[in-house]
Amino acid sequence: MKRPYNFSAGPATLPPEVLEQAAAEMLDWHGSGMGVMEMSHRGREFTSIRDQAEADLRELMAVPAHFKVLFMQGGGLAQNAIVPMNLSRGGAADFVVTGSWSQKSHKEAKRYCTAHVAASNDADRHTRIPAPESWKLDAKAAYVHLCTNETIHGVEFQSLPDLKALGSDAALVIDCSSHIATRPIDWSRVGLAFAGAQKNIGPSGVTIVFVREDLLGHALPVCPSVFDYKVVADNDSMLNTPPTYAIYIAGLVFQWLKRQGGIAAMEQRNVTKAQLVYDYVDTSGYYRNEVDKSCRSRMNIPFFLPDDKLNDAFLAGAKERGLLQLKGHKSVGGMRASLYNAMPLAGAQALVDYMREFAARHG
Ligand code: PMP
Repeated sequence: MKRPYNFSAGPATLPPEVLEQAAAEMLDWHGSGMGVMEMSHRGREFTSIRDQAEADLRELMAVPAHFKVLFMQGGGLAQNAIVPMNLSRGGAADFVVTGSWSQKSHKEAKRYCTAHVAASNDADRHTRIPAPESWKLDAKAAYVHLCTNETIHGVEFQSLPDLKALGSDAALVIDCSSHIATRPIDWSRVGLAFAGAQKNIGPSGVTIVFVREDLLGHALPVCPSVFDYKVVADNDSMLNTPPTYAIYIAGLVFQWLKRQGGIAAMEQRNVTKAQLVYDYVDTSGYYRNEVDKSCRSRMNIPFFLPDDKLNDAFLAGAKERGLLQLKGHKSVGGMRASLYNAMPLAGAQALVDYMREFAARHG
């Protein structure tokens, strides 16, 4: 079956092989007589699914042994509260604001700690990343929060800052919700990373947290037990019923990623796909992307037509050609193409072909 190409920013397209396997196993997982949704989370079957998912993720992302991998609920937005409740000790934290998601993280953290903005690209309408040397870091901050891929503005950190070299002892916290598993992570620079699953990993409902062990055990008294990283870690993410089906699909995606050659191979493909679209946008003389070239996202490409009045015609024509969910976020306008791991090169090519055709007709 030929499916349309789905450019949604999330929940987003998944590999057809994964969906087909899930469909085949829907009524009877591995001869157990049960579907995964129907299994006790404490039974042998589901425990093996969970353990395999964690082992595959650790292998794929080369997660060091001194990091815990947690499967939580509440999405990225819940982490905006959970991180300060666990890491701030009620003191200070720094935020580098590079777009809507880091802005939201800062706002929420203010409820739990003294949250400073160490740098912001607000004046540049979120189109560039302030140089780390210019960040005004607070010597007393327990952590520094970044969103390493701003899904709405299409701004991505191409490398992680070395906080030590910037004179800070704070832990680096990264919200990598929209580019997890699309490029390697330099764990030597990270204290905690979190990501909702619904872009590159699977369905919404599970949030993955990687946390360095020395950061555990400092939750504020107000922190709910299910959100206390130490409690979650001590219970292997099974203090209460985890989002079992979401974890199962994530596990199938991890196995798919291994069959694709792992994260380094995915990264190469992601570079190629993004380059194809940016090169066309930049040379088209018709479309435009406003993000500085040094920090353009490989995952989320916002682009604009010369006249917003053409947006509806563009989207309607795209849909007719099997190119779905290209409408930009309402706060930015225009279009946005999300090119997550499961988007094949042929999808990016089909988009560029259509963009060229549309520009020729309306240019
Ligand atoms: N952070 C980033 C970078 C995101 O893209 C999103 C969702 N689009 C969130 C946080 C919020 O995630 P959730 O909707 O799962 O709470």
